Amino acid sequence: MSRSFVRYDAVIVGARAAGAATAMLLGRAGLRVLLLDRGQYGADTLSTHALMRSGVLQLHRWGLLDSIVDAGTPPIRRTTFRYADEEVSVMIKAGHGIDALYAPRRTVLDPVLVDAAAAAGAHVRYGVTATDVRRDAGGRVVAVEGHDDTGRALSFNTDIVIGADGLRSTVAARVGAAIEHRARSASAVVYGYWSDVETDGYEWAYRSGVAAGLIPTNDGLTCVFAGGPPWRVGRGGRRVIDDIVHSASPAIAERLAAGRPPAGVRSFPGQPGFLRRAAGPGWALVGDAGSWKDPISTRGIADALRDAELLARAVVAAASGEVSEREAMSDYQFVRDRLTLPLLEAADAISAYDWGDDEINVLLRDLSSSMAADLEVVVGFDPIDVGPLREAV
Ligand SMILES: Cc1cc2nc3c(=O)[nH]c(=O)nc-3n(C[C@H](O)[C@H](O)[C@H](O)COP(=O)(O)OP(=O)(O)OC[C@H]3O[C@@H](n4cnc5c(N)ncnc54)[C@H](O)[C@@H]3O)c2cc1C
Repeated sequence: MSRSFVRYDAVIVGARAAGAATAMLLGRAGLRVLLLDRGQYGADTLSTHALMRSGVLQLHRWGLLDSIVDAGTPPIRRTTFRYADEEVSVMIKAGHGIDALYAPRRTVLDPVLVDAAAAAGAHVRYGVTATDVRRDAGGRVVAVEGHDDTGRALSFNTDIVIGADGLRSTVAARVGAAIEHRARSASAVVYGYWSDVETDGYEWAYRSGVAAGLIPTNDGLTCVFAGGPPWRVGRGGRRVIDDIVHSASPAIAERLAAGRPPAGVRSFPGQPGFLRRAAGPGWALVGDAGSWKDPISTRGIADALRDAELLARAVVAAASGEVSEREAMSDYQFVRDRLTLPLLEAADAISAYDWGDDEINVLLRDLSSSMAADLEVVVGFDPIDVGPLREAV
């Protein structure tokens, strides 16, 4: 077993949206941070990548939006909703320094965040799998245990272990984080990347029992997704996309037919949403590890960025002695839950796919108002107080 002699202020397991953003913010605040991931730098992951306004705003404030734009991510200036025989087009309003949305591939977004974490002083290690946590005699989590790619056992001492290790979080399991809210339904999704498709921003289409969408992204590609109850999506495949897109919107199907289809597509079988306890003595969860919403919400990434900032504020406040860890973490959980629960419920209602054509617009309105509450909180974030903390801890 190799034990690190460095004692970290925070060890973060999972180096994507939630973990890398948290590491960057804690590093910028002067904390000693280790960011671990069992995967590889720049690897893709199973996810489409439509970013909502609060996430784009955070990237802008963190000084990272230019890198996303420089990577050739196209601006999204309009969202079009199609349901029943209605088509509603909403222009993206300029405000708070942004005038467009973006949907960067995860091979673009995640490395930008990881690079920013490293530039902020975080130690970044790939090929390290966390398998357990260690506790002191009082039950407080004090270390992460795991191994590297060669199987060598590793152990890292830390003041706090942050589980940003996704939907099937090992950290959540090892700390015994209880699930405090469960959604009822789960929808399945199949998606792929088309070229030469005429698009005009985000396009979402809904018809009884199905949904589909277009997400313009890097390299001139358009991510096309098709969702429905698991029995409808089955094992996925291109034909399922063609079939569902045609049911949801024949007009979109016609444009797809004129484009160039991908050689392969990816599918996700579905998983009901949940909200886990967010923190305990010496540990916290962020991103999907703590809160999972059905992908039809297209909110997971923006929520991961928002919760990274809420958690980083709590960790910084506790480390500076401004408030107790218990108080800081209970504030983190309170705000996360207040923002997440309405969204989780709205996504749950849509992902049940038991609505009729005349009901979906009401459900979409609920989803949209939960996003408005979220944006208000993100707009109101003051800059994190950086600098003096390194001396204070
Ligand atoms: C089909 C699908 C479509 C989606 N579409 C959208 C969308 O359009 N918009 C949107 O906002 N969200 C979408 N989401 C949700 C979004 O993908 C997630 O919410 C987001 O990835 C959460 O980021 P995260 O950093 O919390 O976790 P993840 O992105 O899952 O990252 C977790 C990281 O932890 C690492 N890890 C896991 N276990 C360990 C371990 N034991 N040791 C070390 N490392 C570990 C993994 O290697 C991984 O890199 C979609 C999800 C799916 C499945």
